[in-house]
Amino acid sequence: MDKKVGVYICSGCEIGKAIDVEKLSQLASSEQNVTVCNNHASLCSVQGFDLINNDIEKESLDNIIIAACSPRVKTDIFDFTENILVERTNIREQVAWCMEQGEEDTQMAAEDYLRMAITKVNNIDIPKPFIAENISSDILVVGGGITGITAAIEGANAGYKVHIVEKEEKLGGWLNKLYKQIPYSAPYSQLKEIEINEKIKELQQNSLIEIHTSAIIKEISGQPGQFNVSLFNGLEQNVTVGSIVTATGWKPYDASKLSHLGYGNPKVLTNVEFEELVKNSTEKELPKNILFIQCAGSRDKDHLPYCSSLCCGTSLKQATYIRELSPESNVFIVYKDIRTLGLYEEFYMEVQKDDQIFFTKGEIQGVTENNTNLNVSIKDTLIGDDISISVDMIVLATGMVPNGTEDLNLNYRLGKGLPELKYNFSDSHFICFPYETRRTGIYAAGSLRSPMDIASSKSDACGAMLKAIQSIEATKRGESVHPRSGDKSY
Ligand code: SF4
Ligand code: SF4
Repeated sequence: MDKKVGVYICSGCEIGKAIDVEKLSQLASSEQNVTVCNNHASLCSVQGFDLINNDIEKESLDNIIIAACSPRVKTDIFDFTENILVERTNIREQVAWCMEQGEEDTQMAAEDYLRMAITKVNNIDIPKPFIAENISSDILVVGGGITGITAAIEGANAGYKVHIVEKEEKLGGWLNKLYKQIPYSAPYSQLKEIEINEKIKELQQNSLIEIHTSAIIKEISGQPGQFNVSLFNGLEQNVTVGSIVTATGWKPYDASKLSHLGYGNPKVLTNVEFEELVKNSTEKELPKNILFIQCAGSRDKDHLPYCSSLCCGTSLKQATYIRELSPESNVFIVYKDIRTLGLYEEFYMEVQKDDQIFFTKGEIQGVTENNTNLNVSIKDTLIGDDISISVDMIVLATGMVPNGTEDLNLNYRLGKGLPELKYNFSDSHFICFPYETRRTGIYAAGSLRSPMDIASSKSDACGAMLKAIQSIEATKRGESVHPRSGDKSY
């Protein structure tokens, strides 16, 4: 069947000043022999749209070429029925706005753009999407920490059935081990109580969420829209889901590699161990002098080369509650830099107001034990001198290491887990596609893809869940999800 092509050339936005639109129109009608060719002073106006729409009905046009502005703009206006193929050729930004007005070259460039557009529509058809049968709208969330819980609640609130899988008996992840949370909202001065129990309750009360605790994934096979998941928690259960959000979280850096900072001595704890100690102690009696070593095994080429972005905030939090629990205490924080991202700077400034929290920038030269105390030798880079501080306890601000995704047990030739970057964070493209992994239909959220705090993990969970939903809906329509979102010709 012959194509019926309508060409519409806009003379608005100074196109008419730069290009002889009449001449361009004659080229379309005579040389290229299109069905209809019309010019208009503003194709994006109601009159311009009506002109095109009337021609579509009158001439039964099935291909429309808009020679006007960039195809990135006015997409909502130049949106006709599904059966009409619309090709936008950009004679505004790429010709009229960047070339000399009225020059022969300018006219020739516009003519070439129009010829290319006409040739293109004459040689392509509207792609027919491949629509698979039995697409599942259910979503699997892997990991029952704050990220997974938030993702599951968000997915269910959007109307999707969610299966959440946690290998531990209890939901909540690291938040179960925290004594207090860093203040994450204005005025950033008061530590927050742990909020996980309310979240777990909300999860349990949602009828669209099925919780699988003490459960492992034996295998995931299939494809977007049709992932077959085999779960095991004493009994085997098979579920089919349309997409997956993985939030398998993080673990602390292995402190046994930090003996040069005193680890191995019972008075030297990691930040995670210290948090648990305080949470679990009934008396909350703490030593009088406590020193924090920041970047313990982080930003160090022999250990973790990256910054975990969270451990400075954690030390500030721990220093705050030490001082609240034990007003006689002295806290020392030795840092390379204090990194409190965004508005956490407000919290840092609040902590600095306490005279008994002493900050200094320095490099740890060594840790020795002297009678009942620990002596920390520091090359103080602020005052340019060596100092020594005698304390009762040292807390190492260790960093975050991603847990990895091998537990997904993907039945793919390319491996059981998701492809990872240099430091084992899963990634597709950190900036353009933060939640996408290199497995379509499987999305990563939380500290699995980058070190992050609780507030960031929660917003990350929303982003990844949104992508999981988009994946299901795009699969139902037979469209690609990313990077060419909406493409039916893949
Ligand atoms: S915005 Fe586009 S369609 Fe509207 S007048 Fe300008 S070039 Fe024409
Ligand atoms: S957050 Fe602070 S302690 Fe942690 S790695 Fe970064 S600079 Fe070091």
